[in-house]
This record gives sequence, C-alpha cells and structure tokens, in this order.
Amino acid sequence: MSIQHEIPSYLTPHEIGPWGDYLEQIDRVTPHLGSLARWVETLKRPKRILVVDVPIERDNGAIAHFEGYRVQHNTSRGPGKGGVRFHQDVTLSEVMALSAWMTVKNAAVNVPYGGAKGGIRVDPKTLSQGELQRMTRRYTSEINIIIGPNKDIPAPDVNTNEQIMAWMMDTYSMNQGSTASGVVTGKPISLGGSLGRHEATGRGVFVVGCEAASRLGMDISDARIAVQGFGNVGGIAARLFSEAGAKVIAVQDHQATVVREAGLDIAALQAHVAAHGSVAGFRNAEELKDRSQFWGLDCDILVPAALEQQITEVNAHQIRARIILEGANGPTTPAADDILHDKGVLVVPDVIANAGGVTVSYFEWVQDFSSFFWTEDEINLRLTRIMREAFTAVWQLASEKKVSLRTAAFIVGCTRVLQAREMRGLYP
Ligand code: NAD
Repeated sequence: MSIQHEIPSYLTPHEIGPWGDYLEQIDRVTPHLGSLARWVETLKRPKRILVVDVPIERDNGAIAHFEGYRVQHNTSRGPGKGGVRFHQDVTLSEVMALSAWMTVKNAAVNVPYGGAKGGIRVDPKTLSQGELQRMTRRYTSEINIIIGPNKDIPAPDVNTNEQIMAWMMDTYSMNQGSTASGVVTGKPISLGGSLGRHEATGRGVFVVGCEAASRLGMDISDARIAVQGFGNVGGIAARLFSEAGAKVIAVQDHQATVVREAGLDIAALQAHVAAHGSVAGFRNAEELKDRSQFWGLDCDILVPAALEQQITEVNAHQIRARIILEGANGPTTPAADDILHDKGVLVVPDVIANAGGVTVSYFEWVQDFSSFFWTEDEINLRLTRIMREAFTAVWQLASEKKVSLRTAAFIVGCTRVLQAREMRGLYP
C-alpha cells in the first residue's frame, strides 16, 4: 500500500516523480532502523537545493537559457558526491532522488561522502562542441559557490564524460586562482583522473552480477543477458559479461533494440555506436519493432542501465529474467519491486550494483589529494574487494531479516547516515 507523502512546496504533486519512489523506499526501511528512526525525516529532506539559470550565446548569435540544478541531499558523513546529468527530461524531482540515492549508496559501500547530484535540462545532442563547453562552464560558475574538493565533488552521469569534467575542473580552478583537480572525478587521466574510473561502474555491475548469479547457482558463462542503455555503464557491463562467456542477447538504447539469439558481438556494437550514435542499424542483429517487447525477452539477467522508472507495474509482469541487475539509478519503481518479489525475481539494487563508479571516484579523489597515483591492477583489485564485501554484507542481512536486497542495502546505508547524524547532533 502506498503512503501519502508530504510534497515539498517547490514540487507540485504531478512532479513528485522519482523522488516519490525514493520516499517510498525510505518508508519501507524505517521499521528496521530501531531508535534511529527518530532521525528519518532528515533523509526525506534534501539539505540544500540550488537552481540556476544557465544562459549561453549560441553559435548563430541567439541567446539560449537552460535550467540547471545542484542538490546536496545529505552531508552527514562527508562532502556531497554525485554526478551531473545533461538530459532534456531532467527535473528537480529527478535530481533530488538521484542525490538521495547517492547518500544511501555512498554509505552502503562505506565511502566517506554524503550524497549530491546535478543536472541541466538540455538535449546536449542539439549543441555544438563550443556551445556545450560554454554551457558547462557557465553552469560550473553558477554552482561554484557550493562545490569544492571538500564540499561537493561532481562526476559524470548520463551524457557527461571526461571532457565535460575537464571543463568543470578548469572553470572551478580559474575562479579559485589555482588548479583544484579534486573538485570533480571522472577526469581525463592527464588531468589527475584515475586509471580504471572510466570502466568502474560497468565493472562493479559485472562483479556484483557474478556474485548474485553464483548465489543462485547460475553459471555466468552460460548466462543470457539483456541490457538497456549502452553508454558508459551498460556498454562496459555488456562487454565484461560477454568476455566472461555470457551471451548478450539484446541491447536497447534510446533509439532501437537489437537482438541476436546467438549473442551480439559487443566490440562490433560499440564500434557501431561510436560511429553512428546508436545501436540502430547494427548489422548482424534483428531490430525489435516494438520496444516494449524488450522486457519480456527470454534471458537470465536483465541489466537496466539507462534511466529511472523503466520497470514499472506495467511491464514487471512480462519479465522472465531471474536477476535484475540495476546499473541505472532508480530503474525499478516500488510497485514493480513488489511484483518482481512475488514472481521470485532477484533485484540487485542500484545502491550496490552501480556503486563501482563512486568507489573509484573516491580512489581518484584520494590520489589527487596525495598526488600519488595507483596502478590499474591495484584499483581493480580494491574495487572488486569493496563490491564483493558490500554485496555479501547486504546478502547476509537480507537473509537474516527476510527482506529484499534493496531494503537490506537501505538498512546498511541509512543506519550509517543516521548514526553520523545522531553523533554530530543538531546545530545549534
Ligand atoms: P550514458 O550517457 O553513457 O549512456 C546512457 C545510455 O542510455 C545510452 O546508451 C542511451 O542511448 C540510453 N538511453 C537513454 N534514454 C533511453 C531510453 N529511454 N531507453 C533506452 N535507453 C536509453 O550514461 P551512463 O553514465 O551509462 O548512465 C546510465 C545510468 O547509470 C544512469 O541511470 C546513471 O545515473 C547510472 N550511473 C552512472 C554512473 C557512471 O559512472 N557513469 C555511475 C552510477 C550510475
């Protein structure tokens, strides 16, 4: 049964969106928080929201304005940390939810950060490189007052990458008067980025997917995988699964769904996307005409790695996979969670499954502070160990308490955040 939530005055009821899903997840974990539950309201209110106007001069001389956001959900355990998204559908509700999931995730894998997220409501595909750079730099200047290596550290998310991070780092540094490489993570290696960061989220998804599969007695080298989203997260996870011998039988992106029973050639598909911007038109695969059929494909592991609210009460019934491995943030709504639970589908939640990215972001930040850089082997070993330990702890807690992996991950994360909150006490 869904509970009526108090909607902040800055969101209208129809805008509650993913923030509503997050609030429901918090309601589900609250009975498991013991005496810390008295602090739970903290988790239902972002600490700080900054909405900024981002004006730029277009190449043709026209002036365009974009809406930008940076939300710091919670900083009880350390500075804010979370990506920046450039997408035409970005909303405040979405950025609030994404920032809150960062709070829970960072605590669940025990990296010393709070949660934050940012975004600009723009389709970056409609901008030239020059316009993209001007927009990124103006946005960074506008949020400059609340970010910083010890305050809040942005990183890449949907439609942002190493180049955007380089511009953000440079803009912040110019405003400060000195180079501050620790202000963002996911930078190019030549600017203080970390080896392994580009692949870290997909690698973490793969590591956790293997752990989950082994718990169900599933052999990865026999597994059939379907992936939604073929960008940084989905593309790399697909490649690692296929290198481990699994068959990636379907990939869906924003334009098309390609299917091949014998398994797609992932390296060739990545080359096709690099050249054409989408999986559409990939030879050596069939294209599904009806996108919604993707959810009912016969597979063992389904990896949503695109956007939130993709698996809902509308399509959850169709799902035939045994494992949902959440590469994306918030891809499964609470109503869909219930349906999947009843069907016996194991949902490995975002706050564990995709935590590899922020884990290596943490390594990058530590390396920048010490100006001492680690080898890729060291990074991948430490990443793999953290991901396995986090998954094992959540798996054990879920079995002890007879709750879903999501609720168990939220128990671990929220307990750490609220313990910190309680020990710090309320100021003044
Ligand atoms: P990306 O921009 O690299 O790729 C996004 C992919 O999703 C693209 O292939 C795009 O075509 C596809 N897509 C977009 N809209 C779609 C739609 N409606 N249907 C199907 N596919 C669609 O982004 P990314 O960095 O891979 O992020 C994907 C997800 O992973 C997001 O939820 C993000 O928050 C999450 N995530 C990313 C990171 C990271 O390090 N990049 C870390 C943790 C979580």
